Amino acid sequence: MDNQSDIAAPGTSRRRDTGFPLLEVRDLGKKYNSSRESIVAIESVSVNLAQGEFLSIVGPSGCGKSTLLKIIAGLSTATSGSIRLNGSEVVRPGPDLGFVFQGDALLPWRTIRQNVALGLEISGRHREAARIRTDEMLRLVGLAEFGDRFPVELSGGMRQRANLARGLALDPPVLLMDEPFAALDAQTREIMQTELLKIWRQNKKSVIFITHQIEEAVFLSDRIILMSARPGRIIGDFIVPIERPRSSAVRFSNEFRELNREIWQQLRDEVTRANDQSKAATLKGSQSTGWGLRTRRR
Ligand code: ADP
Repeated sequence: MDNQSDIAAPGTSRRRDTGFPLLEVRDLGKKYNSSRESIVAIESVSVNLAQGEFLSIVGPSGCGKSTLLKIIAGLSTATSGSIRLNGSEVVRPGPDLGFVFQGDALLPWRTIRQNVALGLEISGRHREAARIRTDEMLRLVGLAEFGDRFPVELSGGMRQRANLARGLALDPPVLLMDEPFAALDAQTREIMQTELLKIWRQNKKSVIFITHQIEEAVFLSDRIILMSARPGRIIGDFIVPIERPRSSAVRFSNEFRELNREIWQQLRDEVTRANDQSKAATLKGSQSTGWGLRTRRR
């Protein structure tokens, strides 16, 4: 099965066949209706995720990336289209899809251990099995010594590790990550990216990762898809031809810089369009989420 064939991707470069898809997103559309207006957030989005693949989604703010991820996770419903995981339709959140939210989504009144154990508790895991698994996850993300602390006692990087541990606790084959490192400073973010790659490799996960940063996407991914300004459609699909395992040094290589440049060239117009949409919405006095794509311009 050619898992790329249905991706509408004008200007696309470098594709590859990544085998039978684990996750299939078909013709997905989402319209938000309110008494004041109706917003088409995403339109005709089709994308596949192969077993073990690290896929990033990049696009301007407000283009529907989070909407897409929430629908894939079963946390929101699509207006049209379908999602299949291992051939079965996804209609609600389940243990096969782990979600790591933006920023710090830990519950402040629970310790780090209790936060990491949350999904295990909800899924009804036996108490002792849950304790063993929680300890394992805390060790995996380097927080074994901090399980009894509360989120407020930890640095931003440590809280984000705890978030990741919580997402991994149920051992989902697919991990959905929505700008998980956006709130971190640049140095911590780089360290977390390297840590994430280590965990991904060791645990053989398939990942969909949303980011504003092209560089982050190139460093982490096997493949990067680009979304247009709202309504979000897929306008590009890039294979990252950089050898693994990757160290931070790859950021200085020509192929890394060249791919960054190529992606930015294709996205630039969409970012301008998203900013124009945002200004128009502000002028109309409506709420807007729009900021341009935060990336270094070359
Ligand atoms: P992104 O993650 O790319 O920044 P979102 O998926 O958050 O984009 O939002 C896409 C569009 O849908 C935006 O215009 C946003 O304002 C709108 N939107 C998102 N969530 C809702 C909602 N719950 N109700 C109405 N509009 C929404």
